[in-house]
Amino acid sequence: SGTPHWLFGDQLGPHFVDPARGGPHRDAPLLMIEARSVFRRRRFHRAKAHLILSAMRHRAAELGDRVRYVKSDTYRQGLREAVGDAPVTVHHPTSHAALAFVRALPSVRVLPARGFLVTHDAFRNWADDRGTKHLRQEDFYRWVRQTHDLLMDGDRPAGGQWNLDHENRQPPPRGATGLGVPAPYRPRESGIDAEVRSDLDRWSRDGDVEFVGEDAPRGFPATRREALAALRRFVEHRLATFGAHEDAVLAADATMSHSLLSSSLNLGLLDPAECVERAEARWRSGGVPLNSAEGFVRQIAGWREFVWHVYWYFGPRYRAGNALRHHERLPGWFAELSSDATEANCLAHVLAQVRATGWTHHIPRLMILGSFALQRGWEPQAVTDWFHRSFVDGYDWVMVPNVVGMSQYADGGRMTTKPYTSGGAYIDRMSDLCGPCRYKPSVRVGEDACPFTAGYWNLLHRHRDRFERNARMIRAVRGLDRLPDLEELLEQERDRRD
Ligand code: FAD
Ligand code: SF4
Repeated sequence: SGTPHWLFGDQLGPHFVDPARGGPHRDAPLLMIEARSVFRRRRFHRAKAHLILSAMRHRAAELGDRVRYVKSDTYRQGLREAVGDAPVTVHHPTSHAALAFVRALPSVRVLPARGFLVTHDAFRNWADDRGTKHLRQEDFYRWVRQTHDLLMDGDRPAGGQWNLDHENRQPPPRGATGLGVPAPYRPRESGIDAEVRSDLDRWSRDGDVEFVGEDAPRGFPATRREALAALRRFVEHRLATFGAHEDAVLAADATMSHSLLSSSLNLGLLDPAECVERAEARWRSGGVPLNSAEGFVRQIAGWREFVWHVYWYFGPRYRAGNALRHHERLPGWFAELSSDATEANCLAHVLAQVRATGWTHHIPRLMILGSFALQRGWEPQAVTDWFHRSFVDGYDWVMVPNVVGMSQYADGGRMTTKPYTSGGAYIDRMSDLCGPCRYKPSVRVGEDACPFTAGYWNLLHRHRDRFERNARMIRAVRGLDRLPDLEELLEQERDRRD
């Protein structure tokens, strides 16, 4: 009972210290380690470093005398300083590296993972039953809905359909500059944030740690109370419009109707069960349409869970996948989030957003940043690392499947049916970013050629053999034969610098 329990920096909610759910004993002393080496390993966005440190220190302040908070260089040193070789428990950490580390320590006992709906064993059984090395989110999602009784009417999906995605792909409302929904919750900084800011300033000044991105007021919850306020505000005021324009992008409305809850979920401040249950309850009480509630439930109970389990099920080598053999380096301007270096308006706009906040919603990540990296043939592991460093919600488990699998198709289709990429026409349809751009989305070759349109055809051409074998890509690949200016386009792409 008195065995100290170690909380990692992404295990900050009450469900990580709940004895009724397999957590530590009610009286067990708690331990938190703030290891500076984590921030030295990668050049993180400053907003991300700030959020993590702020959340850890706020949690320690809440736990008071029950927690020993150690600031050290490495986890190993921190552990030695706090408990020596005495036994410690910890909930299953969230990366292969951290799991290997704690498992290698004889004094540490690893408890089951928390913060997800589906257990490792249940997922393994589900996936093994498929008998294939290709796993599909949609199958998994339906199974989660049934086994967790989410949005179900008896054994049928509420409303008769599992997936209302076809209602959720609408372009932005014509002529609008924003969705006109109430703004998302934003926290107010505390004295702890001021301390974090001064520590980060000092580390940078001493040349100990380097950051990218702007230092701005903290934009995401660092405490359970703030995270609950953000969830409440979303469900009450913003969920109703989540569905229809989920995939749309508007220059003047970065957040649209998105929840901005990813960092709170990934810090462990919110439990996914409470998020989906509240969304369902709101629908059942008539407060939001089904396509919005279902869309949100699918993101959390479908995609987020799926990505977590894919990370573990496919194992540590999954990250090294490079099915398309892409080896180009990321250009410096992209790594620095320097939006001035490109004339592609969509890319400049989204890079500026990431530089300012460490966040942008799913479609800019997938169809602008990720798609650009794929078309340029950048090395997938470098792209994963870039996303991990630059986003407030980036952690190894969530980045590896999203980037290696979903965005770069580097796993050759083990978790998606086809590469996610497009020409400028898709970006033009789904956003208002092309109007002011110096390029034209419909132009492939010449001065006005849109880099996404030209990049798309160039990618299809480079991987024609592979993509021709994919039923969902055949039509697109055959389109190459109808391009009268393909040779010119390929030459232009060979010389392109940005
Ligand atoms: P909403 O649109 O409101 O969605 C609700 C919630 O669903 C999110 O908060 C998130 O928890 C969950 N979710 C939805 N899609 C995914 C997904 N594909 N993977 C995991 N969770 C999902 N999400 C992260 O949490 N961390 C990341 O590092 C991350 N990297 C990404 C990288 C790429 C290339 C892509 C294409 C997607 C990435 N995502 C990541 C998924 C998704 O884009 C973000 O979760 C989402 O944009 C966060 O904003 P939100 O909270 O407003 O999400
Ligand atoms: Fe982006 Fe091309 Fe549209 Fe310009 S024209 S904003 S580069 S998609």
